[in-house]
Amino acid sequence: MKICLGYPSLDDPRGFHQVGQNRQAQVFSAPAFIYPYIPAMAATLLKRAGHEILWLDGPAEGLTWAQQLQQLETFQPDLLAWEVKTPSVIGTWGKVDAVKQALPRCATVLMGDHVTALPQESLDRCAVDIALTGGDYDFGLVEIAKRLSAGESVRGVFHQPTTGDLKTLPVVDRQLTKWRLYGYERGSGNYKYLPGTHSMAGGRDCWWRHDGGCTFCSWTNTFKNWRVGTVDQFMAEVESCASLGIRELFDDTGTFPIGAWLQDCCERLIKFNEGKRHGRCRVTIGCNMRPGALKQSEWNLLGRAGFRFILFGLESANHETLVRINKGQKEHDMETSARMAKGAGLEPHVTCMVGYPWESKEGAARTIRFTQELFARGWIDTLQATICIPYPGTALYRQCVEHGWLKYPPGDWNQWDMSKPVMTPGDNMSDDEVLAMTRGIYKSFVTPRFLVRKLISVRSRDDLKFLARGARLLWGHLTDFSGRRPQVAVH
Ligand code: SF4
Repeated sequence: MKICLGYPSLDDPRGFHQVGQNRQAQVFSAPAFIYPYIPAMAATLLKRAGHEILWLDGPAEGLTWAQQLQQLETFQPDLLAWEVKTPSVIGTWGKVDAVKQALPRCATVLMGDHVTALPQESLDRCAVDIALTGGDYDFGLVEIAKRLSAGESVRGVFHQPTTGDLKTLPVVDRQLTKWRLYGYERGSGNYKYLPGTHSMAGGRDCWWRHDGGCTFCSWTNTFKNWRVGTVDQFMAEVESCASLGIRELFDDTGTFPIGAWLQDCCERLIKFNEGKRHGRCRVTIGCNMRPGALKQSEWNLLGRAGFRFILFGLESANHETLVRINKGQKEHDMETSARMAKGAGLEPHVTCMVGYPWESKEGAARTIRFTQELFARGWIDTLQATICIPYPGTALYRQCVEHGWLKYPPGDWNQWDMSKPVMTPGDNMSDDEVLAMTRGIYKSFVTPRFLVRKLISVRSRDDLKFLARGARLLWGHLTDFSGRRPQVAVH
C-alpha cells in the first residue's frame, strides 16, 4: 500500500500548532516542531512491512494546504494518517473532507489523545474513515494496513490496546521521517547542541500512574499503563543518532525509567561517551524526571553519563494544587531535586502552570515567587509556563464538567489553544490577569543577576547560540500569552 503519515497544514492565522510529542497543546506564534516519535515509529514499521511511505508534515515543511494537497494528489495514498490534538481537531476535520473529495479511495485515519477521548465526534464531524484510539499509533496503523491490504473494510472506531511489546521495536528510521526538519532552529527550543532530536525509547509513557497519574496530563488517557523499553534499544537509538551527526537527544518518555534500568543505562552511556560530560561527549542526553525520584549519587551518575537537560514538572508551588492534580510530589521535592541535579552539573528546566480553578491570586503569585527563587539560587536554568488546560479524556476535564468550571462549551475546541484560560480561574481572575501571571513567570527570571551569571557561563559557540535562541523563544512566549492572538471561529 501507499501510506502517508504526518500533519496537515491548517493555514491557521493563530500560528503553529504543537501536536506531536506534546502532552499539552499550544499554538506558537513562531514556527516550532518536535520530532514526533510514535508516528515516526509507525512509518518505520509500515516500511518494514513492505509499504511505500510518504512522510508529509505540512507545517514543518512550510507547505500551505494547497501545496500539501497537491503532493498528496501526486502520491495517491491508499491510507493517510494524521495525529491531532484538541485545538487542531476542528481545522483538521476540514482538511480530511478536502482529502476525501480529492482522493475518495484513500482511507483516512485520525489519531491522538483528543480522538482517543472522543472518537465518535470526529467520525460524526468529518468524512474520516477511522478514529484510531489508544497511544500505540504505530502498532495500530500496522494492524489497520494489514487488514486493508487483505481487503477487509476497516471503518469507525479502531481501538489499539497499549499492550504492544516495546521490546520488538526497531530503531526509528529518522531518514524516512525527515528528522532534519525538527533538528535545528525550528525544532525543540530545548536543544543546546544542534542538531538535536527526540526519542521515546525509555518507555511509554510514564511510570506515575498512581490513581491514574496527573489529572491534567493528556497522555494519561492514551497510555493508561506503563511499559519500559530495554537499555539495549535505548543505546541503539543513541548510536543511530551519533551516526547521523545528531549531538543532543531528548528522550521524551513521560518519566524516564529509574532504578537498575537507569544505572545500567548510565554505565553504558559513560562507555559510549568515553566518560565525557555534556558538550564534549558524543551525544548529550535529556529526559523528563519527577521531582523526588533520584538521590544525589544518581544525579551524579547522570552527569557523568552525558545528561544535560532535565525537565521537571513543578506545576505549582502550592500544596493544595499538587494534591488536587495528583502530582504525587511535595513542594520541597522540587527544590531538593533541582539543587541536586544542578550540583551534578545538569541543567534543570521546570514547567509550571497557572489558571487552576481552586488556586487564588496569592497562590499563583507564590508559584511565580518560588520559580524566581529557584533561578536566584541558580538551581534551574530554564523554565516553561503555561495555562492549565483540561483536555477531554483527563480526570481534570471530568472534574470541570462536574463542577461547571468550563468557560466554553465542549466542542468549541478552538478555544482550547492556550491563548487564554478555558477553566474559570480562582478568585474570578480575568483572562488578562491569568495571562499576566503567565508572562510574569517568564519575566521572573530575567534579573540582572541571572543575566550576568548566564553571560559569564558562556564557554562555547553552542552556549552563545543557545542563549540567543533562548532570548528569541522568551520573546515568542511573551507574545503567545499577550492576549493579542487572532481568534478562530467554530466551523
Ligand atoms: S509525571 Fe504527570 S504530567 Fe508528567 S508524564 Fe507523568 S502523568 Fe504526565
